[in-house]
Parts: sequence; C-alpha cells; structure tokens
Amino acid sequence: MRHHISDDLLLSYEAGSLSEGWSLAVATHLALCPESRERARAAAAVGGALLEEIDAAPVDESSLDAVMDRIDASPVQADSQQGGLGGSGQRHSGREPILPEPLRSYVGGDVDTIRWRRLGTKAKHLPIKTGDRETSVRLLRIPGGEPVPHHGHRGTELTLVLSGTLVDGDEIFARGDIEQADESVEHQPSAGPGEDCICLAVTDAPLRFRGMMARLAQPFLRI
Ligand code: ZN
Repeated sequence: MRHHISDDLLLSYEAGSLSEGWSLAVATHLALCPESRERARAAAAVGGALLEEIDAAPVDESSLDAVMDRIDASPVQADSQQGGLGGSGQRHSGREPILPEPLRSYVGGDVDTIRWRRLGTKAKHLPIKTGDRETSVRLLRIPGGEPVPHHGHRGTELTLVLSGTLVDGDEIFARGDIEQADESVEHQPSAGPGEDCICLAVTDAPLRFRGMMARLAQPFLRI
C-alpha cells in the first residue's frame, strides 16, 4: 500500500499557497510518485475551475516559484559525474539518484556528498535552508532497525521516505511514501531492519519530546 500526499496539500501546492518547505516536500514526493502527479494535474484543473468562480482569489506564488526556479536551473543530465565503474553498457541501469530534484539542488548533490551531523545517539541529520520562516526542513538518516525518539507534534509534520523503509506501528513507508502527522499524533517511527532509512522531514513547530535528554538537546538541534 502506498502513502500519498493529502488532497488538501496537493490543492494548496497547485494554488501556490504553500510556503517553501512544504512545497519542497510535495515537489519531491511528486518526483517519485506518478499517481500523485496524476492527481496534481487533476487538482490543478479543479483549482482552475474554482478560480473562474471566485473573483481574484489572492494566491502567493512566490514559494512555488522558488521551487520551480531550482528545477529550471538544475542541469537536465543526471548522474553526469558518476564514475564508470561498471564499464560497458550499464549506465545507471535502475540506479537513479536517491535524492531527486528539486531536493538534490537544495542539498547540493546526492546523499554520498552529505556531511551528516549527529542527532541524538544514532540518527544523523542535515538541516536544509529555505527562504521561508514557517518551516523547519531536514534530511534524516536513521540506522536500520533503530527508532527515533518518541515524540508528539505541535503542528504538522511531513516525512518523505527516500531510501530504506520507515515503520510506524503497523504501517510501512517506502521510497516516495509520505507520512503526515499532526497535534493528535504521538509516535515513535523506526527504520526498517537492515538498510538505513533516509527521509526528508518538514515541520512547522517544535516536536514534543518526553525524554529529558532529547528536550535538553532540542534547542540546539532546532527540531
Ligand atoms: Zn513525528
């Protein structure tokens, strides 16, 4: 079972009313999920029809523009720097980059170029800068089989899996899947066994941690 983005988010994205952090998560999900791309096209059509009904509805297109500019500015040929270890005829057969555009441009390369920072005892992270003041955006790298600290939310949290799997209760999220949590959710997701889980996490309010060490570290990590 796949986990897609909500209709609310898609409509807001298509309307250009999401701030940059949310737009980045939605655009990256769309890059990995053909079904959601199809729904986005439908959402855009619905939005267009709505706009014809409503006189001059104000929309903020600046955040979507910022994401689109990154897409336009990025070179089309992916993987141009990868060494030819495999030799003849196996040019990235099924080996697409872990970080698709537009995310890759924000990070400045694929995951092998990342200098991860420690986040707690086992997990690592890379904060990602955006131009908006609403969201906090980061890549997480959770070792296989390891949990993240138990936490609640003061706002919305989007988690987009890029490699490995993320397990939350009886739900499993794989590459391209997105999990949406809000104030009503308390959880402790963990990376599936084996492979590290790399995911993109976007929040608009600090998480609520139970553990004292996590709470002490929180201001330094801005999570
Ligand atoms: Zn959470």
